[in-house]
Amino acid sequence: MPRRKEGEISLIKGILWSVFLITGWCLAPTLLSAQDKANKDPKTPQYEVYVLLSASWAAEFPRFTSLDNDDIKEKFKETTPVTFAYIKGPGVEMVFNAGPRKGTVFEVIPKGSLDLIDQKTLLASLGVVSAKIKTAVIDATCFDHLGGIDAFPNATFVIQKKEFDSLPSKYSNAEDIEKIMQLKKEGRLKIIEGDQELAPGIKAHFLGGHTQGTQFLSVQTDDGLVVLGGDGLFTYENLKYDIPSPLGLGKEAQKESYKRIRKVLGESDELLVPGHDMEVFRRFPRITERVVQIKLR
Ligand SMILES: [Zn+2]
Repeated sequence: MPRRKEGEISLIKGILWSVFLITGWCLAPTLLSAQDKANKDPKTPQYEVYVLLSASWAAEFPRFTSLDNDDIKEKFKETTPVTFAYIKGPGVEMVFNAGPRKGTVFEVIPKGSLDLIDQKTLLASLGVVSAKIKTAVIDATCFDHLGGIDAFPNATFVIQKKEFDSLPSKYSNAEDIEKIMQLKKEGRLKIIEGDQELAPGIKAHFLGGHTQGTQFLSVQTDDGLVVLGGDGLFTYENLKYDIPSPLGLGKEAQKESYKRIRKVLGESDELLVPGHDMEVFRRFPRITERVVQIKLR
């Protein structure tokens, strides 16, 4: 073969190799991330998580033991939302805490409460029938998380043993506690001890810190693991700066509980949902005026 022809062939070979390598280089991240997704355990269902705004309280609600930090000073001036979460997936219709009811919210915080919308109406704005909710996870037995028990007539309520054994808790309402006892009689109270999987990809975690048996919830979604802090974590800043709230079992107990949240959450706060932080309604995509879906934008 003439030398010139040989040269041309090796040039073509070189070009083909380069195209092959460049294409491989470009496609690799796509293929790897697809692989990553597949590795996420394809059998685990992915759920949708929504946070609903029931009411809100005036600023300066005691969410921090110290106001030394500028971010926290600003946060202290902000309205405090009262919320609950709705979780939907294959065979799962769940709420995380039962939300407040008018009587107790206005009794405790008489001034500065914004319009309270009941759970049934809020869920209906998502096309959800509250009577079809099968499970209600009680993070803590505080008045603003138990007031809506009657809105979920067909749900089984899930509570930590330590919380049940220590009733009434520091922030509970007597009428709500009677309802908890009634649920138990009806066989609608599931008492769990420690961390427990409630459905594949949904786990209740013992927390403590706020009340004796406070629990938080992690839920697998398409975007990753959503962590619902409830009353165990009022705001993002409580965790970020390790500054607990004065409403709880003391600074040290709460700091210990924050470590538990961090362990499940990992380093990123992207899919974290504190129980009483308006930032939740700015950070996540809005579905209706008072509902956001917990997903990455
Ligand atoms: Zn609360």
